[in-house]
Amino acid sequence: MQNLDHALSAELNQRQLDHLYRKRNSHDGPQRPQLKINGQTLLAFCSNDYLGLANHPALIRAAQNACVDYGLGSGASHLVAGHTGVHHELEEALAKLTQRPRALLFSSGYMANMGVLSSLLDRQDAVYQDRLNHASLLDGGLLSAAKFQRYRHQDLSDLQRQLDKTQARRHLVATDAVFSMDGDTALLKPLSQLCHAQQAWLMIDDAHGFGVLGRDGGGSALAQGLTTDDCPIYMATLGKALGSYGAFVAGSDVLIETLIQFSRNYIYTTALPPAIAAASLAAVNLLQHEVWRQQHLNHLIRLFKQQAEHLKLPLMPSDTAIQPLLIGSSEVALRLSESLKEMGFLVTAIRPPTVPKNTARLRITLSAAHTENHLQQLLAALSKLQHQGLLAVVDD
Ligand SMILES: *Cc1c(COP(=O)(O)O)cnc(C)c1O
Repeated sequence: MQNLDHALSAELNQRQLDHLYRKRNSHDGPQRPQLKINGQTLLAFCSNDYLGLANHPALIRAAQNACVDYGLGSGASHLVAGHTGVHHELEEALAKLTQRPRALLFSSGYMANMGVLSSLLDRQDAVYQDRLNHASLLDGGLLSAAKFQRYRHQDLSDLQRQLDKTQARRHLVATDAVFSMDGDTALLKPLSQLCHAQQAWLMIDDAHGFGVLGRDGGGSALAQGLTTDDCPIYMATLGKALGSYGAFVAGSDVLIETLIQFSRNYIYTTALPPAIAAASLAAVNLLQHEVWRQQHLNHLIRLFKQQAEHLKLPLMPSDTAIQPLLIGSSEVALRLSESLKEMGFLVTAIRPPTVPKNTARLRITLSAAHTENHLQQLLAALSKLQHQGLLAVVDD
């Protein structure tokens, strides 16, 4: 295999030289703010466990009980013999929470996005995507073979220009509802009006809004007053704020039946383990019964923004739990992440190609599992890095 290793090594070396090399942090113990990595306990600000549910006893108990009733593996795909009562109950709970006629579980968000776009569109069609959309939406668009167009971030006139010119059969506009690496929220009402006027279908990926935004965490569409008519395709994941794993699409009966019949990413894969579905169901119940989690998270977001503005940290325009600090150079972002690690904090440097060139950042995420004191510790460390001249002080 010398030729293979030789060819691949050149690319790996270049990635190192570009400061884009990725390394995994392996930790032991549950997902929580204090992570033990290489014997050092770090205070983490990079998890997507926004409500602190990943280690909640109710989720663990639900999974344990479901293991007793259903065993571990689902054993087959949904269409063969893998669909259980608990999957079904979860779909009904998700439809109810998002106020949509039906919901369909997918094994992951990545598969849901690939599955929706590739089953609804083909080469006669066109898909329009915000430039900062998640990789899974972009990949789904490419897989569909539809004409692929990216519009400038949140720029509706750019989108309108593209829609005006189109000759395609079907038009689908897809956007992150909360942008995963920036934290800003899509303005869904004007977007849905534009789609309506242009007879385009709107699909939103609410991976970072579901569970934390809208009534009882029902998501961004509810938070911005969008009905199923306004936004016919709603997708969200269960591995972030819900603290579990998996994803779903919610919409009309016809949409869901179409996905069951035609979505290859739904049909040709093993159903989620029932225990995972049971844990997700427990999480959905907690959204309504432990509302303090959303409230505490919102309090922490406001507090962080206020103090970070006071320190003149390079914040980005976000009101969500994703509060990145824009650094620019990958090398500097990496160095800052390493300095923070030495000071006892885990904050990952997000670099291209995950984000556009020259926009490397420290992606800070907040969780209801954090305390005010955790925030103060992080802010003190960031302030220290500013005093050392390592982190910018931005003038407004
Ligand atoms: C995480 C994420 C996904 C993928 O979801 P998984 O369940 O982790 O595969 C899709 N879209 C967005 C915006 C995400 O942040």
